[in-house]
Amino acid sequence: MNSRRDFLQKLGLSALALQLAPLSGWAAGADNVEPHYDGPLLRVAILGLGGYGTMVAEAMQKCTKAKLVGVVSGTPSKVKAWQSKYGIPEKNCYNYENFDNIKNNPDIDAVYVITPNGLHHDFVIRTAAAGKHAICEKPMAVNAQEGQAMVDACKKANVKLLVGYRMHFEPKTLEVIRMRQSGEFGKIRFFQGQCGFTIGDPTQWRLNKKLAGGGSMMDIGIYAINGARYMTGEDPVWVTAQETKTDTVKFKEGVDETIQFQFGFPSGAVASCLSTYNMNNLDRFFLDGEKGFAEMQPSTGYGPIRGRTHLGELNQPITTHQTVQMDEMADIIFKNKQPVVPVNGEEAVKDLKLIDAIYLAVKTGKKVEVSL
Ligand code: NAD
Repeated sequence: MNSRRDFLQKLGLSALALQLAPLSGWAAGADNVEPHYDGPLLRVAILGLGGYGTMVAEAMQKCTKAKLVGVVSGTPSKVKAWQSKYGIPEKNCYNYENFDNIKNNPDIDAVYVITPNGLHHDFVIRTAAAGKHAICEKPMAVNAQEGQAMVDACKKANVKLLVGYRMHFEPKTLEVIRMRQSGEFGKIRFFQGQCGFTIGDPTQWRLNKKLAGGGSMMDIGIYAINGARYMTGEDPVWVTAQETKTDTVKFKEGVDETIQFQFGFPSGAVASCLSTYNMNNLDRFFLDGEKGFAEMQPSTGYGPIRGRTHLGELNQPITTHQTVQMDEMADIIFKNKQPVVPVNGEEAVKDLKLIDAIYLAVKTGKKVEVSL
């Protein structure tokens, strides 16, 4: 099966739509995969109208199955601006104090929490208590215990909890996963994930332990953690880690600057990863198997993702990650669709357990056994 067909089928297109899907449209991108969709629309309120919230709102303008219909914000001027830009009615606007009243609003299905990490837990718990589905940015929480409480609260309220793991819907990433699953790389032996950038403004919340939950590991290292799992197809059983800090003013106690970490997997495969807030040009995944390899660089940025394998360049389409993510999440919520790689709260708790283990390994200098 060629990879274009494979990808369209993963997105659930019928055989007829497959024949009709124009090649030119394909080359231009695959965001709007079902232009004549007439199923249920996922009506979303975004909570936290900052940099990434704005990116999601823009991307959602191209969604066919999800629609931005509401906002939750502590800043009235932002609410007004979003209302006029996206046509959001007054009755779908909330602040952090009156947010719980959203339970009485039948026109909103889900709340997408896009605040600093340390606030995710409380806002998701409130979303669940209001009987709305919760979509939450990564890292879902600042430790596994908080993350598990979020999973439990959503389960109890009978709502879904999904996490903004946009790479789980990215075509080149999915192609590497398909190749690994079909044995094209042979037995996987090694994964390398390098994720980082040089962080600017020392006063930003990303460098505040309470709001960020940590440092680079919470923000960018999590891509290497999550990637190590979806690229190898295994969950680690042990973790080792080492921290380097060159600037103790900018990176205070509990805010990591650079951490190198290693995973061991049940098959015997190993991973070697780096997370940093003090180096640029680090957005690279390398997967090595007995019969072949995949290299992706950039591997998790907003795109275009680029990559090659032992068979040649990856040429799957360039997508707007957040558009595809939100359309797919509509199917996950309404049709119980199972994505190739899960994006649920349980998946996020696994990453949080690994973050907890990495911090413990740094602190103790010891190998930490994990059971996900
Ligand atoms: P940001 O600073 O641009 O926006 C944060 C928003 O939260 C702002 O609107 C701010 O007003 C609001 N907020 C509410 N309470 C706050 C408080 N007490 N302190 C500070 N801000 C407060 O940050 P961002 O880059 O949009 O990141 C938000 C979340 O999105 C984070 O969890 C981050 O990890 C995640 N994120 C994910 C991706 C991705 O690719 N999936 C990319 C960027 C950010």
